[in-house]
Amino acid sequence: MSTHDADVVIVGGGPVGLMCAYLGRVSGLRTVVLDQSEGPVQVGRADALNARSLQLLETVGLFNDLYKLGKTCNTSSVFSGGQFISRQSKWWDELEGCFHKHFLMLGQTHLEHLLDQKIRETGEAVRRSSTVVDISVSRQGCVTTLANGEVIRSKYVIGADGSRSFVRELFQVGFEVVRPQIVWAVIDGVIESDFPKVPDIIVFQADTSDVAWIPREGNIDRFYVRMDTKDFSFDQALTKINRAVYPYRLRFQEIQWQSQFTVKESVAEKFSVLDRVFLAGDACHVHSVNGGQGLNTGLGDAFNLMWKLGQVENFGVSSELLKTYEGERKPIALGVVETSGELVRSTKHSATGTHAQDYVKIVERRSGYVTGMGVRYGDQGISGSRLHDLEIYQAVRKTRLYSLLDYSRFTLLAFTDQELELKLPPFVNLIQVRSRQGAGEYWTENPVYANQFVLVRPDSYIESVTPAGVAPVENHLSS
Ligand SMILES: Cc1cc2nc3c(=O)[nH]c(=O)nc-3n(C[C@H](O)[C@H](O)[C@H](O)COP(=O)(O)OP(=O)(O)OC[C@H]3O[C@@H](n4cnc5c(N)ncnc54)[C@H](O)[C@@H]3O)c2cc1C
Repeated sequence: MSTHDADVVIVGGGPVGLMCAYLGRVSGLRTVVLDQSEGPVQVGRADALNARSLQLLETVGLFNDLYKLGKTCNTSSVFSGGQFISRQSKWWDELEGCFHKHFLMLGQTHLEHLLDQKIRETGEAVRRSSTVVDISVSRQGCVTTLANGEVIRSKYVIGADGSRSFVRELFQVGFEVVRPQIVWAVIDGVIESDFPKVPDIIVFQADTSDVAWIPREGNIDRFYVRMDTKDFSFDQALTKINRAVYPYRLRFQEIQWQSQFTVKESVAEKFSVLDRVFLAGDACHVHSVNGGQGLNTGLGDAFNLMWKLGQVENFGVSSELLKTYEGERKPIALGVVETSGELVRSTKHSATGTHAQDYVKIVERRSGYVTGMGVRYGDQGISGSRLHDLEIYQAVRKTRLYSLLDYSRFTLLAFTDQELELKLPPFVNLIQVRSRQGAGEYWTENPVYANQFVLVRPDSYIESVTPAGVAPVENHLSS
C-alpha cells in the first residue's frame, strides 16, 4: 500500500473527468485521474461540440487540434417522402459575439485522446485500470481507496464517473430517474444511398419522426432510430431508416459502431458534499441525446468548477465560492433535461402529425441550450452572461478576444484609450484594448464594450462591467 498526495482526485477519465484534470493542471492544481477502463473510448458516443464548447476550448488551447478533425454543421433539414420540406439555421446564424456559429461534428474519442495526451504531457498520466472502491470525506479533505488497496489523500474529489456514478451512490446523493420508454438505436458507419444527401442534420417525417441522420467526421454518417423497445435487431433499425428515406434506398457498406441508448432523465439532488466532493458530467445529469447536449453540458461543468478550486487553493479565496458551482450548474442541468425531454417526446407525439417540423421548431425555441450560447449564470443583466468574442488587432495582426483569455485567472479587459495605473490582485490579468491602432497594443473598432472595464471570469462569463475611468473595478475585486 502506498500513499499519494494531490489537490484533486478525479474519479472517471471520460471526457468530463479528463477535462477537469486538464483544467486543473492549467490552474496549477495537482490532479490525479483514475479510470477503471484501459483507455479512451475508441468509437461512438457523443458526436457534436456546440458553439460554446468551441469557444471554451479556444481559451485553453484545445481548439486548433480538434477543429481540423471535424465537420461543421448548423443546419437542420426536414424531408418527407423523399422530398425536401424545409431548412433552418437561423438560430445559429443570428448568434452574436461568436465566430463559430455551428456544431463541430466530431466523435467523443477525439476529445478524449487529445485530453489524455495533454494530461500525460503536463504531469502524471491518467491512471488506467484503477477502480475506486471507497472515498471518505471530512472538512479537512478526502481519502480515496482503490481496488488494489492503494490510498490517495487529496483536498477534493470529483466524481466524473458517468451515469451510474459510484461516487454519487456512495454519498447517497438523490438521483430520481424518469424513464420515458424511449430507446434509440445508434449506428455509425459508411453508407451507400441514392438519397439526395445534404450536409445537414436531417429529420424525417414519416408516420412519426423516428429517424435522424447526422453528419460525422471523415466518411462516417450517424443514424439515430427510435425503437421504443430494447429488443430490436439491426435489420429492424435499417428497415426504419429505409422507410424514412423512401423512395430512395440506403445500405451500410461498413458499420463502425452500433449501440442502443435508453433514455433516462435525472438531475442529482446536489452537486457537492461538504464542498469537498463534487459531481460533474453524466454523474449529475442524464437525458436523451436530442440536441447533443450531454457532453457539452459536462464540459460546462468542468469549466465552471476547476477555476473555482484554483482560486481557493492558489489565491486564498473563500471556499464559499465553491457553493456557486451547484448554484450555477444545477439550473443549467435542469434546463438541458427539459430541452432534450421536449425534443425526444416530440418525435413520438404530435397534435398535428407534423413531428419533424415540430422538432425543428423546438430546437429553435430552445436554441440557447442547443448552441450552448444561451447558458448564463443569473437571470438577467450583463453579469453572468457570456463574454462576446471580438476581432482584436495587435498592430496589424488580427486575432480574437477569446484567444487572449487565460483560464487560470480573471481578465480585466480595459476598453479604453486612457493611460491606466491599476493595482490589481495576482489573480487578475489586465488587457487593455484601445479604439485605435497603436504600437504593439491591442485595439478594436468593435464598439460593444467601448469605454468600459469588463471583468471576465476564467470561464469567460462576465463578472462585472463598469464605465472606464471609474474606480469600482478595484473595489469589486477586493470585495
Ligand atoms: C449512444 C450514445 C450517444 C450519445 N450521443 C451524444 C451526443 O450526440 N451528444 C452529446 O453531447 N452526448 C452524447 N452522449 C452522451 C455522452 O457520451 C456523455 O454525456 C459523456 O460521455 C459524459 O461524459 P462523462 O465523462 O461525464 O462520463 P463517461 O463518459 O461515462 O465517463 C465516466 C468514466 O468513469 C469511469 N468510471 C466509472 N466508475 C468508476 C470507478 N468506480 N472507478 C474508476 N473509474 C470509474 C468509466 O470507466 C468512464 O471512463 C451519448 C452517449 C451515448 C451512450
